[in-house]
Amino acid sequence: MKPVLNILHLYPRDMNIYGDWGNVLTVMRRAQWHGYEPVLLEYNPGDAFPEHVDIIIGGGGQDAGQDKIQADLLKMKPRLLELAQYDTPMLVICGLYQLFGNFFRTKDGHEITGIGLFNIETHGGPERMIGNIVIDSPEFGQIIGYENHSGQTFLQEGVQPLGKVIKGAGNNGQDEFEGARVHNVIGSYLHGSLLPKNPAIADWLIEKAVTKKYGEFTPTVIDDRFAQEARKIALTRPR
Ligand code: GLN
Repeated sequence: MKPVLNILHLYPRDMNIYGDWGNVLTVMRRAQWHGYEPVLLEYNPGDAFPEHVDIIIGGGGQDAGQDKIQADLLKMKPRLLELAQYDTPMLVICGLYQLFGNFFRTKDGHEITGIGLFNIETHGGPERMIGNIVIDSPEFGQIIGYENHSGQTFLQEGVQPLGKVIKGAGNNGQDEFEGARVHNVIGSYLHGSLLPKNPAIADWLIEKAVTKKYGEFTPTVIDDRFAQEARKIALTRPR
C-alpha cells in the first residue's frame, strides 16, 4: 500500500472560480507520480471537519460566495490556525486568501471578517484588477497566473509576500507585492489555475506534507514539458 496523503478542498461549492479546482487536481496527480496515495476530502459549510488533513487547498469566489462561507469559516478558525501552527501546508487563492486575512471591506463598506491567519487587510478598490500576471518569488522563481479581483490587499507586520510583481497588479496595484506567506501557508491572487503552470509550488506543498507525516521525501523526476510549454506561452500573452 502506498502512503496516504489527505488533501482537503476547502469550500469547493462556494469558493472555486477561474479554474481553481485545477490546483486540487494537480496536487492529487503529482502526489501519485511521487509515489503517494492522494485521498480527496471536501469541506463545505456545516460538514464535520476531517480529523486527518495533510494539505489544504482553497479557491476564490464572488463577494456573495465569501459572505456565504464566512460564518462557518470563523467557526473553523481555531482548527485552521492550529493546523497552520503545526506546519500543515496550505494554498488559498483570491477570495479565501482575503478571508485568511483580518478582513475584506467591500467597496460599499460591508465588512467580511476573516480568520487573521495572515496579518493582512483587504479593501474593495475602485476598479477590478484583471489579467495575466507574472511575479518573482525568492523560493519558487517566476510564478505565472491570472488575476481578477477588486480587493486591494495590504500586508501588515510579520507577513512576507509570496513574491514581487513583474507584470500585473498583485496585492493592490501599488506596492508591487503579491500574495502572502506564513508558516507553510501560501495566499495568492493567482488563478489560472496556479499549480498546473507552477508545478514547483505543487511539489513544495507535497514535500512539506510528506516530510511532516513520513519524515522524508524522495521526489520522482517528473516530465514537465507541457507545464514548461504552458509557461512559455502564458509569458507572451498581453495583459
Ligand atoms: N470577491 C473578491 C474580490 O473581488 C475575490 C475575487 C476572487 O476570488 N476572484 O476581490
